[in-house]
Amino acid sequence: MLSNCAACGKVFMKFSKPVCPDCASKELDTAKRIRDYLKQKEKRNAPLIQVSQDLDIPVRYIEYLIRQKYFDLARYPNLQYQCKNCDTLISSGEYCAACAETLRNHLLSVQKDKTKSDKQNDESHENFYRSRL
Ligand SMILES: [Zn+2]
Ligand SMILES: [Zn+2]
Repeated sequence: MLSNCAACGKVFMKFSKPVCPDCASKELDTAKRIRDYLKQKEKRNAPLIQVSQDLDIPVRYIEYLIRQKYFDLARYPNLQYQCKNCDTLISSGEYCAACAETLRNHLLSVQKDKTKSDKQNDESHENFYRSRL
């Protein structure tokens, strides 16, 4: 299946990754640079922002690589990124446990509201047709 690379926009044959082979190998290189950097004893616990500055890699890109599971987070517990919704640091997924819970509840109530309003719409449609009969 042809698809646009999520990183550079180039059209490529998509297999499993959302990025083209060029960008995928760039990802591997960057991930390796970060791993090599963290292998240094004194850098092992460096916060993300320092990794970003020292290696000149955008924090967002490092976060993306962490999400793509390029690193063994058991070995590098400092490789964490911010929850999309608050300041809590997390090492998997997009939201912290608390926000994920809130989001789930929110989704559930939205769904409930939706079925309710769908029903109301149906009824008003019915009324509309009935009134024209
Ligand atoms: Zn690409
Ligand atoms: Zn959160």
